[in-house]
Amino acid sequence: MQETLKNWLNGAVPHMVELQKLLTAHPAIAPESGGSGEGRKADALVGWLRAHTPFIVETFPVKDERVPEGVRPNVLATLPGKDRSRAFWVLTHLDVVPPGDLSQWNTDPFALLEKEGRLYGRGTEDNQQGMVSSIFAALALTEQNLIPPMDVKLLFVADEEVGSTYGIKALLKEYPNLFGRADSFLVPDGGSPDGSIIEIAEKSLLWVKFIVEGKQVHASLPHLGKNAFLAGCDLVLRLAKGLSTRYPEKDPIFDPPLSTFSPTKKEANVPNVNTIPGIDIFYFDCRVLPRYPLDDVLITMDSLAREIEKEYGVTVKREILQKNESAATPSSSTLVKNLKTVLREVRGIEGKEVGIGGNTVGVFLRQKGWDTVVWSTIEERAHMPNEYCVIDNMVKDALVMAQLMLFTDL
Ligand SMILES: [Zn+2]
Repeated sequence: MQETLKNWLNGAVPHMVELQKLLTAHPAIAPESGGSGEGRKADALVGWLRAHTPFIVETFPVKDERVPEGVRPNVLATLPGKDRSRAFWVLTHLDVVPPGDLSQWNTDPFALLEKEGRLYGRGTEDNQQGMVSSIFAALALTEQNLIPPMDVKLLFVADEEVGSTYGIKALLKEYPNLFGRADSFLVPDGGSPDGSIIEIAEKSLLWVKFIVEGKQVHASLPHLGKNAFLAGCDLVLRLAKGLSTRYPEKDPIFDPPLSTFSPTKKEANVPNVNTIPGIDIFYFDCRVLPRYPLDDVLITMDSLAREIEKEYGVTVKREILQKNESAATPSSSTLVKNLKTVLREVRGIEGKEVGIGGNTVGVFLRQKGWDTVVWSTIEERAHMPNEYCVIDNMVKDALVMAQLMLFTDL
């Protein structure tokens, strides 16, 4: 079985490259990043799927007045299984980040170039590699007349690069019946060059803006004012120390194993040296182990802010810019076990479960209780100039996905 699938996939390489070329030719950049969305790319993909596969193809538009079509596209291709009440999902994203400084590219980022086993172009690795692997994995099954034990659903979402508001987040909200309770998800949008890294957890993400308000006066008479900068500095130090002390636990699957609480952005205050600043604004980026509720972190922040208010006579306000509570997919889940089995049998790789500090779409699925793994074999060229996908990785990952789709008990 494995040999037959492998041979078919190896023979399909020219078609995989063709599809990569088609997808690369349609820049799918978010309006926030100066683009007009994923509309054309989604149309091209839907056309290709209808022409070359027997999958049921549906679209789930999400309203967005900023793009020419007035909606952001989300595309679903279904290969029906024996048990139609459950599904194994492979989720990839349609959008890409802008190419950036063009002088750093050796070729046109939106014209695919094949060279020495690599495909160059924006989006070729992030996330078209996973997208094309998943399509050809499912196609390999239909070509062998294999009916998967449960539905195989390939979901191509919009808006992953700038927060998923019009992608997976909207689908979960606007089309909740799309997903079944017993479903599980593979997200091939992260991983490692040797294919061993299986991401099963992410730290919760919290971005907070702090606004310290004091009283602005001439710097020769500081006692008449309230120095917001000084109070702000004290608050930064108390937050950095206080939060790490209050949330000290380590989890070795993460690198670093600790929760992190980092002061980052700082807004300019007064333009001149001889004024006591009346306002001070700074930001914290917090990556917190899933075991600590973010509401608890906010309560700790507030109690430290109240101390500063009392001692300095200032007021401290805070705004939440991002708050994504995370949950982990257990190592003991069938999904993780199956992936490790397939990796061992198909590739001779020992899979290793890890947690990461960033946020992928996995976070939104795990929040809802679905087992989700982020895995692929990638060179990690995402967002860089001269982004490329290694053809061999795309083909090998397709074989792993095809085998996973055949597992009876996901
Ligand atoms: Zn990506």
